[in-house]
Amino acid sequence: MQIETFSPEETFALGQRIGQEARPGDVFTMVGDLGVGKTVFTQGVAAGLGITEPVSSPTFTIVQVYEDGRLPFYHFDVYRIGDVEEMEEIGYEDYFYGGGVTMIEWANLIEEILPESYRQITIEKDLEKGFDYRIITIEEVHRQ
Ligand code: ADP
Ligand code: MG
Repeated sequence: MQIETFSPEETFALGQRIGQEARPGDVFTMVGDLGVGKTVFTQGVAAGLGITEPVSSPTFTIVQVYEDGRLPFYHFDVYRIGDVEEMEEIGYEDYFYGGGVTMIEWANLIEEILPESYRQITIEKDLEKGFDYRIITIEEVHRQ
């Protein structure tokens, strides 16, 4: 599935729809350059889950947990991770295979520990189509 957005509000709204439809145990990964809109999309997902706490990128912690929504929301940003052992120290399996919804920014850095199935969200710019244009691809990934 590919969707074009032309403003942060539209990207937020798409995330919101994903959040509304999310089920316990869903894992989403997010790929895209700095400033492309990963946090905007994630804030939409949180809103769709009914989370009212402010959501920002978890810059100083690897995972931020939000529990005031319809389902627990586990927001990972693994940008600064050294190696996957750090994920083991956090006990990532309790999140990935728990009853909440997981969102992992920069998931390509921890590819070897991603679950067998997840949904990958890729956000890209195309400056020829304008500064606020984004093309968002959502695809189901099944690992061997
Ligand atoms: P990331 O988390 O990927 O580093 P952010 O979500 O923090 O990026 O920031 C994205 C920036 O791009 C915000 O300043 C937002 O207002 C801007 N922006 C412009 N157009 C869009 C769009 N269509 N979708 C998402 N963000 C957009
Ligand atoms: Mg971010």
